[in-house]
Amino acid sequence: MSLNTRLCEEIDARRDDLIALTQDLIRIPTLNPPGSCYADICEYLEERLSASGFTCEMIRATGTPGDSERYPRWNIVARHEGEGTGDCVHFNSHTDVVAVGEGWTTDPFGGVLMDGRIYGRGACDMKGGLAASILAAEAFIGTCPDYRGAIEISGTADEETGGYGGVAYLAEQGFFAPEKVQHVIIPEPLNKDRICLGHRGVWWAEIETKGRIAHGSMPFLGDSAIRHMSAVLEEIETYLYPLLAGKRTDMPVVPEGARQSTMNINSIHGGEPEHEPDFTGFPAACVADRCRIVIDRRFLIEEDLAEVKSEVSGMLEKIRAERPGFRYEIRDLWEVTPTMTERDAPVVKTVAGAIQKVLDRSADYVVSPGTYDQKHIDRIGRLKNCIAYGPGILDLAHQPDEWIGVDDMLDSAKVMALTLAELIGPGGAAEKDDDA
Ligand SMILES: [Zn+2]
Repeated sequence: MSLNTRLCEEIDARRDDLIALTQDLIRIPTLNPPGSCYADICEYLEERLSASGFTCEMIRATGTPGDSERYPRWNIVARHEGEGTGDCVHFNSHTDVVAVGEGWTTDPFGGVLMDGRIYGRGACDMKGGLAASILAAEAFIGTCPDYRGAIEISGTADEETGGYGGVAYLAEQGFFAPEKVQHVIIPEPLNKDRICLGHRGVWWAEIETKGRIAHGSMPFLGDSAIRHMSAVLEEIETYLYPLLAGKRTDMPVVPEGARQSTMNINSIHGGEPEHEPDFTGFPAACVADRCRIVIDRRFLIEEDLAEVKSEVSGMLEKIRAERPGFRYEIRDLWEVTPTMTERDAPVVKTVAGAIQKVLDRSADYVVSPGTYDQKHIDRIGRLKNCIAYGPGILDLAHQPDEWIGVDDMLDSAKVMALTLAELIGPGGAAEKDDDA
């Protein structure tokens, strides 16, 4: 029996273990914000992976945004050494999940198993992927104890809020240094037959228009910041959006709609602040002296960030030149450059080959519309050989009744195990049923 067949059988035999592991992970409510139960999930992973022969290190990202005595940013990195020297394959999963939200028909932290699906917040994004990678590594180690190189599994904090207390911190501490780690797979829910090469860029900014407060019965004595903002919104509609729609990318972004530049107006606030829900009074009659919007601009690998910013600042300057009394400020909030791994990078080629063997179809290559932790591994860790690959349907992420399919987890665990066999398996190519 070939090694690949043995690995697949080994994974199928661990089906119940995979279900229980996924359920256990979902039942730890690692909500972010605020960043709850990070220590609990790291301790759970430490116990599990130590029992499988991994050496575990717990790392608190002290002083990063959100880190406090009440909500410490704990991360875990577990490493297993093979018998010979070789590359290190690292699986990185974030342990945090987003708010539950409305509309659930199952317990969001119950891990209910129904019709081959496990339900819960974080089931697909991405505790199912984390569980699949653990199962793949354990099955591989059990089958090939004499492998060459090393396997690492990390569980990291705060991906949903930028990853600064998670992967970014670990990358700064050298955990993704190229001499330490050679291949990175992030089991985000991109579907079991798709390889995600990277993501578009992000620029967030706040635009504030200025006015002058006056009595609302005599608005002509003041100057409304909200009316000035309406001129900005009008220009966004008639000038900026058509411009962005015309910018197309060669990046294989999914869904198709994101294969162009996009911009979301994240929020708008002007005039009197919103009151608490239990406030029963009337608003005061005032002309708004401030109005702010937050813009969320996603840009393409073909675009330059300076150019992206100058489109918006040029638009605001044009309004200023034409509109009496128009005053504004613009403030950068956050920026991430686009990243895309080459299709002939070793981890891409190997996972594509494993998808072909397990699923008998060729891999799709995609790019994510939004960013994920690959940005830190690329920029801070200087490691390009990195992809996202994992089970689950991306559209279910952050939705009510989020679920992960057990069969999908098993299939992607097989792809991960075959990837390990190819990259760090024992012996020469002869022992692997390689079609190269
Ligand atoms: Zn995720």
